[in-house]
This record gives sequence, C-alpha cells and structure tokens, in this order.
Amino acid sequence: MAHFDVAIIGLGPAGSALARQLAGKMRVIALDKKRQCGSEGFTKPCGGLLAPDAQRAFIRDGITLPVKVIANPQIFSVKTVDVAAGLTRNYPRSYININRHAFDLWMKSLIPDVVTVHHDTLCRKVWREDDEWHISFQADGLEQHITARYLVGADGANSLVRRHLYPEHQIRKYLAIQQWFAEAHAVPFYACIFDNTVTDCYSWSISKDGYFIFGGAYPMKDGQARFEALKAKMTDFAFHFGEPVKSEKCTVLFPSRWGDFVCGKENAFLIGEAAGFISASSLEGISYALDSAELLSQVLQGQREDANRAYTRSTFSLRLKLLGKIIKARILTQPRLRKAIMRSRISDIRVRD
Ligand SMILES: Cc1cc2nc3c(=O)[nH]c(=O)nc-3n(C[C@H](O)[C@H](O)[C@H](O)COP(=O)(O)OP(=O)(O)OC[C@H]3O[C@@H](n4cnc5c(N)ncnc54)[C@H](O)[C@@H]3O)c2cc1C
Repeated sequence: MAHFDVAIIGLGPAGSALARQLAGKMRVIALDKKRQCGSEGFTKPCGGLLAPDAQRAFIRDGITLPVKVIANPQIFSVKTVDVAAGLTRNYPRSYININRHAFDLWMKSLIPDVVTVHHDTLCRKVWREDDEWHISFQADGLEQHITARYLVGADGANSLVRRHLYPEHQIRKYLAIQQWFAEAHAVPFYACIFDNTVTDCYSWSISKDGYFIFGGAYPMKDGQARFEALKAKMTDFAFHFGEPVKSEKCTVLFPSRWGDFVCGKENAFLIGEAAGFISASSLEGISYALDSAELLSQVLQGQREDANRAYTRSTFSLRLKLLGKIIKARILTQPRLRKAIMRSRISDIRVRD
C-alpha cells in the first residue's frame, strides 16, 4: 500500500492550488472526480466570475490567466434588481468573466508531475487508523487503498471529508439552479436579483460566450418551482429567456454563523467550500478556496506540530471576513433595508437610455 505525506480529495480551485504549492516539497496524492480534459464528466455549476480577491491570490503566486479561460464579454457592473420594490440599480464591479470548467482544467494543468494525480476518480471512504489516514477510491477500474499522514478535504459543498470529521455538523444549504439560454439581449449584462417571495437568498444572471445564464439559490424543497416563478416575473424587467439549452443543479453552502466554518482535526484539514468558506452575501467562493489553500500550504510546509491548531489560527482573518459577509447578507436580504439602500442611490451608476 502506497504511503504519502498529504492526500488531497478534490481538485477544484482549492485542491489544485494546494497540490501545486506543495509539489516537490512533500509527497502528495490528489484524487478528483473531474476528467483531465474535455467537457465530459463532472463540471461545476458556477457563475464563473473571478473576484478581485481571487485575482490577488494569482498576483501573489505570480500566475497570469490564459485567454483560453476568459469568457466574452467582460462586464463592469452588476444590475441589481429588487423585484418587489420595482427598483433597478447598477453597481460597478471588477470581476473577470471566465469559463469555469476551462478554468478548473487549467488550474489542474498547473500541478507539477511530481504530484500523483488521479482524474475521473471518486474517493469513496476515508478513515483513521494507527495515526494515519486511510483513503479508498476507484481508479483505472480498480479499487485502490492508500495511506497518508495528512488528509485534505478540498471536495466542495458536499464534502465527504467534512461529513466524516463532523457527522453532526449541519450548515444551511440551498439548491443552486442555473439554466443557459442563447443570448437574446442587445447588451450583455450581469444581474443580481432579490425577491423574498421566491428565496431568502438571491438569484443572478450572467452573459457569457453567447449564452445568457440565469440562476439562483433556492430552498431545497421546492426550488425548481420557485426558480420558474421568478423567471416568469423577470420578463417585466426585460429579461429574455427562450428555450433552455442546458440546466444545472447543485448544493451551495450558505454559512450563517461563526460555527459554520470548520477547519478540520486529527491531521485532517478542510479548505475552500468544504470548510464553509464561501461568501454568504454573493456566493463568491473561488477567492476563499485559493486563500485557504495558500494558508494550509504554509502551515504544512512550516511547523508540523499541532498543524490543525496552526491552520485554524491562520484562517482567523479569513473567517472574520466571511462573518462580515454573513452580516452583509442579512442586511441585503432584508427587504426594507435593501430598499432604503437602493433608494439612496449610493454607488449607483446611472445608465443613459
Ligand atoms: C451556482 C453557483 C455559482 C457560483 N458562482 C461563483 C462565482 O461566480 N464566483 C465565485 O468565486 N464563486 C462562485 N461560486 C462558488 C464557487 O463555485 C465555490 O465556492 C468554489 O468552486 C469552491 O472551490 P473548491 O475548490 O472549494 O470546491 P469545488 O470547486 O466544488 O471543487 C471540489 C472538487 O472536488 C471534487 N470532488 C468532490 N467530491 C469528490 C470525491 N468524493 N472524490 C473525488 N473528487 C471529489 C470535484 O471534482 C470538484 O471539482 C458559485 C457556486 C455556485 C453553486
């Protein structure tokens, strides 16, 4: 049975960044259910907007973004719609519009060959025995079993590692639904839509590479019906849909208290969305995935005694920032406060007809 220093489960932005940063410094194995290339296999439903904090993580790493992951067009504001109040405002934003699947594959391609990577591989079980982590997975049609000193859960919202470490831990979740349509708007745009009768979270739209993506985060129970109800209302705000060419669904975490952030224990660590590191106010998570990977990489390469404590400490500022997003989300999803903010026109850029 092969033994490694670090086993990373999941190669989204968090796992890929960590695998790259640890390459050559520790013996690393990484398992990911996505395929290495092509659009087949697992793809992550996502708005694909790279926030300034994510851009900063790339600056620190000295990495530039190749054109093949950048989508068309680049848009500089978010049209914010309050459906009940009938208000629309435009707030400036500095996102980079990317093709999320191409971005994930590119991030994986940056992992040096010294890391053992299994693509198209589902990790089935993890357990701790004799002070080591055991990991079983299926790769190349065979059941395989390895051990590692450190286990890293970078496996996203439904993290197997988080469920193993914290079986009782419950975190608020929504059903994220996205549909893709042929773009039918004269001017492409991003939008953020609030309608408390449909969801106490929010909905969005993004124009990307000739498609108009409309999505939102809805209560698990009757999410699809709520999504359709909102679509019907949005025609009043000049949103055009037509027949969907693609529909996507997944779970998205919505941290709502300090205890929702969990960093790991017993030489197992959680990074990215697996740790609950996602903004409650915008559902932006790529920057927190990259930042937490960087923090863990520093901890594992430095002090090895009580690495869990060191990692938990080092994520304090990141968690504090995410707590601020929880407070912001409470304000933005509160109809009266939101209406007052939007009516004030603070930061709004008026668009000429
Ligand atoms: C609809 C939607 C829109 C979003 N839009 C944005 C946005 O525009 N900008 C932004 O910054 N964030 C956005 N987010 C959040 C963002 O997608 C996540 O926060 C981010 O992907 C987290 O990165 P991660 O690496 O932690 O996890 P993930 O990206 O979820 O990656 C986890 C990886 O683990 C792998 N995996 C999972 N389980 C296993 C297993 N058992 N075995 C092997 N592999 C496994 C999968 O292959 C997956 O690629 C959005 C989320 C949703 C749901």
